[in-house]
Amino acid sequence: MGWFSKYLWLVADDPEGSWWCDCRTGIVDATWHNKDTFPADGTGWLWTCSKCSRAFIFAKCTRIRGTLQQLACKRTPRIQKSISQSGEMVENTLLVTPQDWLDLIQPILATITEGERYVFFDGHALPAKHGPVKFDGLFRSHDLPDLPHLSESLMEQTIANPDYWDAT
Ligand SMILES: [Zn+2]
Repeated sequence: MGWFSKYLWLVADDPEGSWWCDCRTGIVDATWHNKDTFPADGTGWLWTCSKCSRAFIFAKCTRIRGTLQQLACKRTPRIQKSISQSGEMVENTLLVTPQDWLDLIQPILATITEGERYVFFDGHALPAKHGPVKFDGLFRSHDLPDLPHLSESLMEQTIANPDYWDAT
């Protein structure tokens, strides 16, 4: 490998600084969501920062410092803490090994292009561009007139609304 890294991945690209992560060089963590981390809270439509674990909305595909393997090692095992119905603290290990992390990012890695900006939406990386959105996600099908991440009113009606994610 030369003086630059050949590894493409996603870094936070939020010039308005309007989201929770304010790391100067926030790198996207492997995306994970399930019914415990409900998508309306952002886990189905926001990126998560691998440095501060906070969320942000836009990421740019660029060459990162270091390797994806190094990032995977830093971010595993991933343990999720939640409160069970009986009120006990439960720990689940979501990602055990660095390979689990690398496997999880593979589908997104295969669809991103250097220099493009992306949003995370229900398991997919979609270009952050206006236009109709139609696809089958992990949680539900989407058929929207525009990318909801770019429209405050559409965002409130859809991705930021628990009812939207509950509908089957
Ligand atoms: Zn961060």
